[in-house]
Amino acid sequence: MTANDNAPLTTTSDHLLPFIESLPDAVVIVDQNHKIMLANALAGRMFGFAVDDLKGSDLSTIIPMPLRNAHRKHVNGYFEKPVLRPMGEEKRFSGVRSNGQEVPVDIMINIIVLDGAKVAMALVRDVTYQRELEARLTLESLTDEMTGFYNRKHFKTQLNAQLSGYVRWGLPTSVIMFDFDHFKKINDQYGHAAGDLVLTTIAKMVRQELRPLDVGCRIGGEEFAIILPNANLEDAETLAERIRKLIEQKEFKLDEVSFRATATMGVATFLPTDTSYDSLMRRADNVLYVGKAAGRNRTVTQNALQSTDFTG
Ligand code: GH3
Ligand code: MG
Ligand code: MG
Repeated sequence: MTANDNAPLTTTSDHLLPFIESLPDAVVIVDQNHKIMLANALAGRMFGFAVDDLKGSDLSTIIPMPLRNAHRKHVNGYFEKPVLRPMGEEKRFSGVRSNGQEVPVDIMINIIVLDGAKVAMALVRDVTYQRELEARLTLESLTDEMTGFYNRKHFKTQLNAQLSGYVRWGLPTSVIMFDFDHFKKINDQYGHAAGDLVLTTIAKMVRQELRPLDVGCRIGGEEFAIILPNANLEDAETLAERIRKLIEQKEFKLDEVSFRATATMGVATFLPTDTSYDSLMRRADNVLYVGKAAGRNRTVTQNALQSTDFTG
């Protein structure tokens, strides 16, 4: 529906002002030269200006610097072809306060005729809370609560993204997969809490070893995977060995009882024959089980596979 489906509301500032002051949203009215004609007290408060200072200033005053050019074009386009846009439909709008702080907003715009001139009336709502909630929920859906590491779903998404980088630019990406050895025994012997302690402690220790780009994931109960962008097989093997030794050397203590854990590491890197991230995951998994079969507590890389096994 366009705003022109009905004739635009025609009114005067004197009539409109009490009405927009009564609305629970901020209201900003701009003319076709981007000048703010009218604003309510809530708009003043939202953007940190006295209403009288807002009036007469350019709309860009409340638009973040990097978005100003795009926003100008947007407003011009809107006057040429006004489309009624309900709140929440265009999700990513921001304004800027007088102190420079950005404020995420939802906006609804309509054209009216005010004091004889065509103007755009924007209802502006501060959605800081909603955006923060959304970001938190997104993060929660991608992370494992116990360790704070990313989950299997995120692991796959990220590895897939890295495959594109490898195919397009030849940027290497490697993966370390590791699985604790005889973890069932740790649970059986020292209790489930002891097993949990191993997982959380090692996750913390591994986190210390990672670069900001690396993606640490818990992809199964006691199985972890680390994506290492810009790392070749050798780099990944070196890190895997470092982590393996850290685990081996760590002494865990729970209720005065000490115990130890070990893990087996599988390391793989993208190959020119890879058309899906699956192949890399399978290679890492395969060599991890080569390591298990060979006696556990060791690191095995995809070099241990016959070249004919590489895809499989
Ligand atoms: P392997 O060396 O072959 O990997 O032996 P394993 O005992 O580690 O392997 P298996 O897959 O048989 O057992 C994994 C165990 O890990 C079983 C499961 O109860 C335990 N486990 C999985 N997730 C958790 C967890 O969150 N906390 C605890 N405490 N144990 C877990
Ligand atoms: Mg295990
Ligand atoms: Mg396992």
